[in-house]
Amino acid sequence: NQSKVGKLRDLYSKAAELYHHILINTKLGEQAFDYLQKRGLTLDLINEFEIGFAPEKSLLEAVLKGNDTDENNYQLLRKSGLFVEWQDGSLHERFSDRIVFPIRDANGQIVAFSGRVLSVKPDVPKYLNSPETEIFNKRTILFNFDKAKAEIRLKKHVILFEGFMDVLAAYRAGIKNGVASMGTSLTNEQIYQLQRITSEIYICYDGDEPGQHATKRALELFESLGKFTMGVITLPDKLDPDEFIGKYGAQELVQVLQKQRESPLDFYMRFYEQGKNLTNENAQLTYVSEILNELVSVSDPIERDIYLNRLSQRFGIDKLNLEAQLKTEQHKQAPLV
Ligand code: ATP
Ligand code: MN
Ligand code: MN
Ligand code: MN
Repeated sequence: NQSKVGKLRDLYSKAAELYHHILINTKLGEQAFDYLQKRGLTLDLINEFEIGFAPEKSLLEAVLKGNDTDENNYQLLRKSGLFVEWQDGSLHERFSDRIVFPIRDANGQIVAFSGRVLSVKPDVPKYLNSPETEIFNKRTILFNFDKAKAEIRLKKHVILFEGFMDVLAAYRAGIKNGVASMGTSLTNEQIYQLQRITSEIYICYDGDEPGQHATKRALELFESLGKFTMGVITLPDKLDPDEFIGKYGAQELVQVLQKQRESPLDFYMRFYEQGKNLTNENAQLTYVSEILNELVSVSDPIERDIYLNRLSQRFGIDKLNLEAQLKTEQHKQAPLV
Protein backbone atom coordinates (compact mmCIF):
# COMPACT_ATOMS: atom_id res chain seq x y z
CA ASN A 1 0.00 0.00 0.00
CA GLN A 2 1.45 3.26 -1.20
CA SER A 3 1.92 6.25 1.10
CA LYS A 4 0.04 9.45 0.42
CA VAL A 5 3.27 11.17 -0.61
CA GLY A 6 4.01 8.32 -3.01
CA LYS A 7 0.55 8.61 -4.51
CA LEU A 8 0.90 12.36 -4.95
CA ARG A 9 4.22 11.87 -6.69
CA ASP A 10 2.61 9.34 -8.97
CA LEU A 11 -0.19 11.73 -9.84
CA TYR A 12 2.27 14.43 -10.81
CA SER A 13 4.34 12.08 -12.96
CA LYS A 14 1.23 10.82 -14.72
CA ALA A 15 -0.12 14.33 -15.21
CA ALA A 16 3.20 15.44 -16.70
CA GLU A 17 3.18 12.50 -19.09
CA LEU A 18 -0.34 13.29 -20.23
CA TYR A 19 0.28 17.02 -20.68
CA HIS A 20 3.49 16.32 -22.56
CA HIS A 21 1.76 13.82 -24.82
CA ILE A 22 -1.01 16.33 -25.56
CA LEU A 23 1.54 18.99 -26.44
CA ILE A 24 3.68 17.01 -28.80
CA ASN A 25 1.30 14.46 -30.30
CA THR A 26 -2.19 15.93 -30.48
CA LYS A 27 -4.14 18.62 -32.26
CA LEU A 28 -5.08 20.14 -28.90
CA GLY A 29 -1.45 20.99 -28.30
CA GLU A 30 -0.62 22.40 -31.72
CA GLN A 31 -1.02 26.06 -30.93
CA ALA A 32 1.03 25.76 -27.75
CA PHE A 33 3.72 23.83 -29.59
CA ASP A 34 3.95 26.56 -32.24
CA TYR A 35 4.20 29.15 -29.51
CA LEU A 36 7.11 27.33 -27.87
CA GLN A 37 8.89 26.87 -31.19
CA LYS A 38 8.54 30.58 -31.88
CA ARG A 39 10.18 31.19 -28.54
CA GLY A 40 13.06 29.00 -29.63
CA LEU A 41 12.33 25.87 -27.58
CA THR A 42 13.28 22.85 -29.63
CA LEU A 43 11.54 19.48 -29.51
CA ASP A 44 14.62 18.07 -27.76
CA LEU A 45 14.35 20.63 -25.00
CA ILE A 46 10.58 20.18 -24.73
CA ASN A 47 11.19 16.44 -24.33
CA GLU A 48 14.06 16.83 -21.90
CA PHE A 49 12.06 19.07 -19.58
CA GLU A 50 8.81 17.22 -20.28
CA ILE A 51 7.00 20.46 -21.04
CA GLY A 52 3.31 20.00 -21.75
CA PHE A 53 -0.03 21.58 -22.45
CA ALA A 54 -3.17 21.37 -20.31
CA PRO A 55 -6.30 21.66 -22.45
CA GLU A 56 -9.52 23.12 -21.14
CA LYS A 57 -11.43 19.89 -20.71
CA SER A 58 -10.54 17.88 -17.67
CA LEU A 59 -8.89 14.98 -19.41
CA LEU A 60 -6.68 14.65 -16.42
CA GLU A 61 -9.38 13.57 -14.00
CA ALA A 62 -10.43 10.77 -16.32
CA VAL A 63 -6.87 9.55 -16.70
CA LEU A 64 -6.04 9.71 -13.01
CA LYS A 65 -9.08 7.76 -11.81
CA GLY A 66 -7.26 4.75 -10.43
CA ASN A 67 -8.31 1.41 -9.06
CA ASP A 68 -8.51 2.86 -5.55
CA THR A 69 -11.98 3.17 -3.98
CA ASP A 70 -13.61 6.17 -5.61
CA GLU A 71 -13.86 8.23 -2.44
CA ASN A 72 -10.17 7.92 -1.53
CA ASN A 73 -9.23 8.73 -5.05
CA TYR A 74 -11.47 11.78 -5.15
CA GLN A 75 -9.94 13.13 -1.93
CA LEU A 76 -6.45 12.59 -3.29
CA LEU A 77 -7.24 14.43 -6.52
CA ARG A 78 -8.94 17.21 -4.56
CA LYS A 79 -5.87 17.81 -2.46
CA SER A 80 -3.37 17.29 -5.25
CA GLY A 81 -3.32 20.91 -6.36
CA LEU A 82 -3.88 19.81 -9.95
CA PHE A 83 -7.53 20.88 -9.85
CA VAL A 84 -9.72 23.68 -8.64
CA GLU A 85 -12.95 22.65 -6.99
CA TRP A 86 -16.21 24.29 -7.98
CA GLN A 87 -19.19 24.94 -5.68
CA ASP A 88 -20.86 21.67 -6.78
CA GLY A 89 -17.77 19.66 -5.82
CA SER A 90 -16.67 19.04 -9.37
CA LEU A 91 -12.97 19.24 -10.18
CA HIS A 92 -11.50 21.30 -13.02
CA GLU A 93 -8.01 21.56 -14.42
CA ARG A 94 -6.10 24.23 -12.54
CA PHE A 95 -3.81 24.75 -15.52
CA SER A 96 -6.56 24.79 -18.10
CA ASP A 97 -5.40 26.27 -21.40
CA ARG A 98 -1.83 26.78 -20.20
CA ILE A 99 1.59 25.50 -21.17
CA VAL A 100 2.78 23.50 -18.20
CA PHE A 101 6.38 23.37 -17.01
CA PRO A 102 7.10 20.52 -14.58
CA ILE A 103 8.85 21.68 -11.44
CA ARG A 104 11.21 19.09 -9.99
CA ASP A 105 12.76 18.72 -6.57
CA ALA A 106 16.50 18.23 -6.07
CA ASN A 107 16.11 14.53 -6.88
CA GLY A 108 14.37 15.17 -10.18
CA GLN A 109 10.93 14.16 -8.93
CA ILE A 110 8.08 16.27 -10.34
CA VAL A 111 6.40 18.02 -7.40
CA ALA A 112 4.52 20.88 -9.04
CA PHE A 113 3.74 22.70 -12.27
CA SER A 114 3.96 26.24 -13.42
CA GLY A 115 1.49 27.10 -16.15
CA ARG A 116 1.89 29.93 -18.64
CA VAL A 117 -0.85 31.48 -20.74
CA LEU A 118 -0.25 31.57 -24.49
CA SER A 119 -1.04 35.23 -24.67
CA VAL A 120 -0.86 37.68 -21.83
CA LYS A 121 -4.14 39.41 -20.95
CA PRO A 122 -5.04 41.85 -18.23
CA ASP A 123 -6.54 40.26 -15.08
CA VAL A 124 -5.20 36.81 -15.96
CA PRO A 125 -1.94 35.84 -14.23
CA LYS A 126 0.80 35.15 -16.78
CA TYR A 127 2.10 32.26 -14.71
CA LEU A 128 0.19 30.09 -12.30
CA ASN A 129 1.99 27.76 -9.90
CA SER A 130 0.74 24.68 -8.09
CA PRO A 131 -0.31 25.41 -4.54
CA GLU A 132 1.87 24.04 -1.77
CA THR A 133 1.27 20.37 -1.01
CA GLU A 134 2.96 17.65 1.02
CA ILE A 135 5.49 17.34 -1.78
CA PHE A 136 5.82 20.98 -2.86
CA ASN A 137 7.36 23.65 -0.66
CA LYS A 138 8.22 26.47 -2.98
CA ARG A 139 10.70 28.05 -0.57
CA THR A 140 12.96 25.04 -1.05
CA ILE A 141 12.65 24.57 -4.80
CA LEU A 142 15.11 25.84 -7.36
CA PHE A 143 14.04 25.27 -10.94
CA ASN A 144 16.54 23.00 -12.77
CA PHE A 145 18.59 22.29 -9.63
CA ASP A 146 18.25 18.54 -10.24
CA LYS A 147 19.84 18.77 -13.68
CA ALA A 148 22.23 21.63 -12.88
CA LYS A 149 23.88 20.04 -9.81
CA ALA A 150 26.53 18.10 -11.70
CA GLU A 151 27.33 21.05 -13.95
CA ILE A 152 27.58 23.42 -10.98
CA ARG A 153 30.12 21.12 -9.35
CA LEU A 154 32.04 20.83 -12.60
CA LYS A 155 32.13 24.55 -13.38
CA LYS A 156 32.43 25.42 -9.68
CA HIS A 157 29.78 28.11 -9.92
CA VAL A 158 26.06 28.60 -10.33
CA ILE A 159 24.13 31.23 -12.27
CA LEU A 160 20.91 32.47 -10.74
CA PHE A 161 18.18 33.62 -13.09
CA GLU A 162 14.88 35.31 -12.38
CA GLY A 163 12.55 33.17 -14.47
CA PHE A 164 12.64 29.60 -15.63
CA MET A 165 12.28 30.71 -19.27
CA ASP A 166 15.67 32.32 -18.71
CA VAL A 167 17.10 29.08 -17.31
CA LEU A 168 15.82 27.32 -20.43
CA ALA A 169 17.22 30.02 -22.72
CA ALA A 170 20.65 29.68 -21.13
CA TYR A 171 20.36 25.88 -21.29
CA ARG A 172 19.79 26.08 -25.03
CA ALA A 173 22.90 28.21 -25.30
CA GLY A 174 24.82 25.42 -23.56
CA ILE A 175 24.87 27.03 -20.13
CA LYS A 176 23.52 24.29 -17.93
CA ASN A 177 24.50 25.47 -14.47
CA GLY A 178 21.58 27.90 -14.21
CA VAL A 179 18.73 27.77 -11.71
CA ALA A 180 15.80 30.03 -10.76
CA SER A 181 13.50 30.41 -7.79
CA MET A 182 9.79 30.03 -8.35
CA GLY A 183 8.75 33.61 -9.07
CA THR A 184 9.42 34.63 -5.47
CA SER A 185 12.42 36.23 -3.86
CA LEU A 186 15.29 33.95 -3.06
CA THR A 187 15.05 32.18 0.32
CA ASN A 188 17.53 30.98 2.94
CA GLU A 189 16.57 27.39 2.20
CA GLN A 190 17.48 27.80 -1.46
CA ILE A 191 20.81 29.37 -0.58
CA TYR A 192 21.67 26.54 1.86
CA GLN A 193 21.16 24.03 -0.95
CA LEU A 194 23.49 25.95 -3.24
CA GLN A 195 26.01 26.34 -0.44
CA ARG A 196 26.45 22.58 -0.18
CA ILE A 197 27.84 22.38 -3.69
CA THR A 198 29.39 25.75 -4.51
CA SER A 199 30.51 29.05 -3.01
CA GLU A 200 30.69 30.98 -6.28
CA ILE A 201 27.44 32.63 -7.33
CA TYR A 202 26.56 34.79 -10.32
CA ILE A 203 23.28 36.66 -10.33
CA CYS A 204 21.80 37.35 -13.76
CA TYR A 205 18.34 38.73 -13.14
CA ASP A 206 16.28 40.76 -15.58
CA GLY A 207 17.87 44.06 -16.58
CA ASP A 208 14.71 45.98 -15.67
CA GLU A 209 14.16 47.83 -12.42
CA PRO A 210 12.43 45.02 -10.48
CA GLY A 211 15.25 42.72 -11.55
CA GLN A 212 17.89 45.10 -10.26
CA HIS A 213 16.12 45.54 -6.93
CA ALA A 214 15.84 41.77 -6.63
CA THR A 215 19.59 41.55 -7.33
CA LYS A 216 20.33 43.85 -4.42
CA ARG A 217 18.10 41.84 -2.08
CA ALA A 218 19.71 38.58 -3.18
CA LEU A 219 23.24 39.97 -2.67
CA GLU A 220 22.31 41.06 0.84
CA LEU A 221 20.82 37.68 1.68
CA PHE A 222 23.89 35.79 0.47
CA GLU A 223 26.10 38.14 2.41
CA SER A 224 24.11 37.57 5.60
CA LEU A 225 24.29 33.78 5.27
CA GLY A 226 27.93 33.04 4.68
CA LYS A 227 31.07 33.50 2.72
CA PHE A 228 30.42 33.51 -1.00
CA THR A 229 32.23 34.83 -4.02
CA MET A 230 29.54 36.86 -5.71
CA GLY A 231 29.25 38.40 -9.15
CA VAL A 232 26.50 40.28 -10.93
CA ILE A 233 25.70 40.10 -14.63
CA THR A 234 23.49 42.95 -15.78
CA LEU A 235 21.98 42.73 -19.24
CA PRO A 236 21.57 45.87 -21.34
CA ASP A 237 18.32 47.53 -22.47
CA LYS A 238 16.35 46.13 -19.50
CA LEU A 239 16.36 42.73 -21.20
CA ASP A 240 16.03 39.34 -19.55
CA PRO A 241 18.36 36.54 -20.73
CA ASP A 242 15.68 35.01 -22.93
CA GLU A 243 14.95 38.33 -24.65
CA PHE A 244 18.68 38.98 -24.92
CA ILE A 245 19.16 35.76 -26.91
CA GLY A 246 16.23 36.73 -29.12
CA LYS A 247 17.91 40.03 -29.89
CA TYR A 248 21.62 39.24 -29.93
CA GLY A 249 21.86 35.46 -30.19
CA ALA A 250 22.98 32.63 -27.93
CA GLN A 251 26.72 33.09 -28.50
CA GLU A 252 26.50 36.67 -27.32
CA LEU A 253 24.77 35.59 -24.10
CA VAL A 254 27.52 33.06 -23.47
CA GLN A 255 30.07 35.84 -23.90
CA VAL A 256 28.24 38.19 -21.57
CA LEU A 257 27.75 35.54 -18.90
CA GLN A 258 31.44 34.73 -18.96
CA LYS A 259 32.90 38.18 -19.29
CA GLN A 260 30.64 40.83 -17.86
CA ARG A 261 30.84 39.90 -14.23
CA GLU A 262 30.70 42.84 -11.91
CA SER A 263 31.72 42.72 -8.28
CA PRO A 264 28.89 43.45 -5.82
CA LEU A 265 30.44 46.83 -5.09
CA ASP A 266 30.55 47.83 -8.74
CA PHE A 267 26.92 46.81 -8.92
CA TYR A 268 26.08 48.93 -5.86
CA MET A 269 27.96 51.90 -7.30
CA ARG A 270 25.77 51.77 -10.38
CA PHE A 271 22.63 50.88 -8.49
CA TYR A 272 22.77 53.81 -6.07
CA GLU A 273 23.62 56.22 -8.84
CA GLN A 274 20.28 55.63 -10.56
CA GLY A 275 17.86 58.49 -10.17
CA LYS A 276 20.49 60.78 -8.63
CA ASN A 277 21.95 63.94 -10.03
CA LEU A 278 25.49 63.57 -8.76
CA THR A 279 26.45 67.14 -9.59
CA ASN A 280 24.23 68.06 -6.66
CA GLU A 281 26.10 68.09 -3.33
CA ASN A 282 23.29 66.62 -1.25
CA ALA A 283 22.93 63.78 -3.72
CA GLN A 284 26.70 63.23 -3.51
CA LEU A 285 26.57 62.99 0.27
CA THR A 286 23.73 60.51 0.19
CA TYR A 287 25.51 58.49 -2.47
CA VAL A 288 28.83 58.42 -0.62
CA SER A 289 27.19 57.29 2.60
CA GLU A 290 25.24 54.58 0.75
CA ILE A 291 28.46 53.22 -0.72
CA LEU A 292 30.34 53.43 2.59
CA ASN A 293 27.48 51.53 4.13
CA GLU A 294 28.04 48.71 1.64
CA LEU A 295 31.82 48.91 2.10
CA VAL A 296 31.42 47.96 5.75
CA SER A 297 30.86 44.33 4.80
CA VAL A 298 33.94 44.18 2.56
CA SER A 299 36.58 42.41 4.62
CA ASP A 300 39.47 42.68 2.16
CA PRO A 301 41.42 45.87 3.06
CA ILE A 302 42.82 46.26 -0.46
CA GLU A 303 39.39 46.05 -2.03
CA ARG A 304 38.12 48.60 0.50
CA ASP A 305 40.98 50.88 -0.35
CA ILE A 306 40.27 50.75 -4.08
CA TYR A 307 36.72 51.96 -3.55
CA LEU A 308 37.72 54.62 -1.02
CA ASN A 309 40.19 55.98 -3.58
CA ARG A 310 37.52 56.02 -6.25
CA LEU A 311 35.08 57.91 -4.07
CA SER A 312 37.78 60.29 -2.96
CA GLN A 313 38.87 61.08 -6.52
CA ARG A 314 35.43 61.30 -7.99
CA PHE A 315 33.99 63.69 -5.42
CA GLY A 316 37.15 65.39 -4.26
CA ILE A 317 36.71 64.24 -0.68
CA ASP A 318 39.79 63.72 1.52
CA LYS A 319 40.33 59.97 1.88
CA LEU A 320 40.98 60.36 5.61
CA ASN A 321 37.46 61.72 6.03
CA LEU A 322 36.01 58.78 4.13
CA GLU A 323 37.99 56.36 6.31
CA ALA A 324 36.73 58.07 9.44
CA GLN A 325 33.15 57.84 8.27
CA LEU A 326 33.62 54.19 7.33
CA LYS A 327 34.82 53.52 10.90
CA THR A 328 31.69 55.17 12.25
CA GLU A 329 29.52 53.02 9.98
CA GLN A 330 31.42 49.91 11.09
CA HIS A 331 30.67 50.68 14.73
CA LYS A 332 27.00 51.30 13.93
CA GLN A 333 26.70 47.95 12.19
CA ALA A 334 28.78 45.93 14.65
CA PRO A 335 26.67 43.39 16.50
CA LEU A 336 26.20 44.19 20.19
CA VAL A 337 27.84 41.47 22.21
P1 ATP B 1 8.13 35.15 -20.01
O1 ATP B 1 9.41 35.32 -20.75
O2 ATP B 1 7.43 33.88 -20.34
O3 ATP B 1 7.23 36.32 -20.11
P2 ATP B 1 9.56 35.75 -17.59
O4 ATP B 1 10.35 34.72 -16.83
O5 ATP B 1 10.31 36.74 -18.39
O6 ATP B 1 8.50 34.96 -18.45
P3 ATP B 1 8.88 37.71 -15.64
O7 ATP B 1 7.70 38.59 -15.77
O8 ATP B 1 10.22 38.29 -15.84
O9 ATP B 1 8.60 36.48 -16.57
O10 ATP B 1 8.82 37.04 -14.19
C1 ATP B 1 9.86 36.24 -13.67
C2 ATP B 1 9.28 35.02 -12.94
O11 ATP B 1 8.28 35.44 -12.04
C3 ATP B 1 8.59 34.02 -13.86
O12 ATP B 1 9.46 33.02 -14.31
C4 ATP B 1 7.54 33.42 -12.97
O13 ATP B 1 8.07 32.36 -12.20
C5 ATP B 1 7.19 34.55 -12.05
N1 ATP B 1 5.97 35.24 -12.47
C6 ATP B 1 5.84 36.20 -13.40
N2 ATP B 1 4.58 36.62 -13.52
C7 ATP B 1 3.87 35.91 -12.62
C8 ATP B 1 2.51 35.87 -12.24
N3 ATP B 1 1.61 36.66 -12.81
N4 ATP B 1 2.16 35.00 -11.25
C9 ATP B 1 3.07 34.20 -10.67
N5 ATP B 1 4.37 34.18 -11.00
C10 ATP B 1 4.77 35.01 -11.95
MN1 MN C 1 11.07 40.32 -14.55
MN1 MN D 1 11.72 38.14 -17.41
MN1 MN E 1 11.08 36.62 -20.39
